Amino acid sequence: MDLRAHRVEALVLRAIPYGESDAVVHLLVLGHGRIPAFARGARTSRKRFGGALEVFTRIEALLKEGPELWALREATVLEAHARLRDDLHRIAHAGYATELVHELTRAGEPADALFVLLEEFLARLERGPATSARLRALELLALAASGLAPELGACARCGGEVAPGRAAFDPDAGGTVCAKCVVDGALLLTVGSRAALRQLRQLGLAAADAPLSADGSGRPADARAFEAAAAQAAAPLAAFLRHHLGRALGSAGFLDQVGAPQ
Ligand SMILES: [Zn+2]
Repeated sequence: MDLRAHRVEALVLRAIPYGESDAVVHLLVLGHGRIPAFARGARTSRKRFGGALEVFTRIEALLKEGPELWALREATVLEAHARLRDDLHRIAHAGYATELVHELTRAGEPADALFVLLEEFLARLERGPATSARLRALELLALAASGLAPELGACARCGGEVAPGRAAFDPDAGGTVCAKCVVDGALLLTVGSRAALRQLRQLGLAAADAPLSADGSGRPADARAFEAAAAQAAAPLAAFLRHHLGRALGSAGFLDQVGAPQ
């Protein structure tokens, strides 16, 4: 057994054709983080790769370490997430999710929390409609897993109190800001958006699929109102992500074009 070969579980974030028959595959590998790997014969060898190198697929992979690129020797499908590919909105959401996770990880740094989050996101997206609420939950949890969680309670600049309800949101400051610290050009979180984001951050993807009323009663929320509040939070969170990533995500444009499911 080659000591530098690893049999691992991975999610396919990207697959880029290379030459006639090969591919460079960006994998999020459990225990290892994001790894770009060279798959020789990716597009010709069904025996070694049969269908396993499609984006969004969870695979078992045999990887061999290399000085620059690792080599992907063989891969088998653990979960194809096939239903993600038969709906334009799901494709857009899954593509955004994989790009976001790709951008929030560094090559070779373990990121198991993001692996678990992305796998849960893809599985839930496959079972239900594509929603803003689930995207916002993904963004908040992915940022938190990367140590970049936005402040949603106190003032991100002075630590003071930000009154309940609607609040100014300043990506440069790190989240919500109080009336004293607000500067021109700050964005706004509506009452509903702020409450939705706080619930999504606390309760995760499950809350996106079954939100609770904001009145503390534990009753289900009005799903349409919750979804609208999550959609209103898209622009502030996109600005927050741009601030940390230094650019907008390429897939965000496709997401905008596709729009919300009817
Ligand atoms: Zn302040």
